[in-house]
Amino acid sequence: MSETLHSKVLIIGSGPAGYTAAIYAARANLKPMLVTGLEPGGQLMITTEVENYPGFADVIQGPWLMEQMQKQAVHVGTNLINDYIKEVDFSSRPFKAIGDQGTVYTGDTVVICTGAKARWLGLPSEDIYRGKGVSACATCDGFFFRGKEVVIVGGGNSAVEEALFLTNFCSKVTLIHRRDSLRAEKILQQRLFDNDKIEIIWDHQVEEIKGDPALGMDSLILKNVKTQETQTLKADGLFVAIGHDPATDLFKGKLDMDDSGYIITRPDSTATSIEGVYAAGDVTDDNYRQAVTAAGMGCMAALESDRFLALKSDN
Ligand code: NAP
Repeated sequence: MSETLHSKVLIIGSGPAGYTAAIYAARANLKPMLVTGLEPGGQLMITTEVENYPGFADVIQGPWLMEQMQKQAVHVGTNLINDYIKEVDFSSRPFKAIGDQGTVYTGDTVVICTGAKARWLGLPSEDIYRGKGVSACATCDGFFFRGKEVVIVGGGNSAVEEALFLTNFCSKVTLIHRRDSLRAEKILQQRLFDNDKIEIIWDHQVEEIKGDPALGMDSLILKNVKTQETQTLKADGLFVAIGHDPATDLFKGKLDMDDSGYIITRPDSTATSIEGVYAAGDVTDDNYRQAVTAAGMGCMAALESDRFLALKSDN
């Protein structure tokens, strides 16, 4: 028979949102249970240097930061469980989540912190140079490219905003797009076209990233999708901005989501369409996508869980 484990607050996911929700819930004496998922630590586990998480005067490493958050969550009383949730049932309370081996986790409240993943181009060379010039977050890594020439791939709002942001540091930003028109909002497009530091290469795709795996990337092979001709472009960095996918397959049809699959929460709240179920971090945020904003939402979710449980116990 499969085991059943219960807690007042069941947290699914172990990025900054999940760990922060756990820290706050544990310190509110709610004895939270956090199920980590397949890759504990989330997106920061594939980041190297982190310079924008407040509290650290020196540069820190993403995996180290996540290890510290995990230890802090356990230290204050979180029951940390390495399992992967494959099914949820939010139709009645306590809410249910089923683990990979059939363990049933129940919670009087649930905090969903399953995050999102950046889309990558899918090139073998991308894996080699990730963290060595290749990034999916200009806000996080742009600062490391001061005075350098970088390339950004994509044609949506993110790519255009990030290209503009990168001009604050970089000597030149080249935007590569696979078509001859952008899908970004017109006002952003105009700012892009007006910026002298930005060059646009239309109808091209990145075919390969070149460099020295020990030192980092130094150039890209680009292919014209109309003529199939290739060219080499010198570049110190490559920012991939072709969208993100929230990890919400589990919750489809169970919680309200937007067209892109992000869980919808009430304004200024982490409350989802089901009372007692909260969502925090990138799983509900296609705008800021920062560790610190995810952590803030994790805190909100724990506080909202606490208030919800207090209200229920009064009735
Ligand atoms: P997006 O709007 O889905 O745009 C993705 C871009 O990447 C598209 O231009 C797409 O090309 C390109 N692309 C996709 N796969 C590719 C591949 N394999 N190789 C090369 N290019 C590829 O994604 P996003 O820009 O991240 O934005 C996501 C959502 O957040 C959107 O709804 C956006 O409006 C919103 N957002 C809003 C703001 C804002 O309001 N300030 C800021 C950022 C994001 P095609 O155009 O050819 O499909």
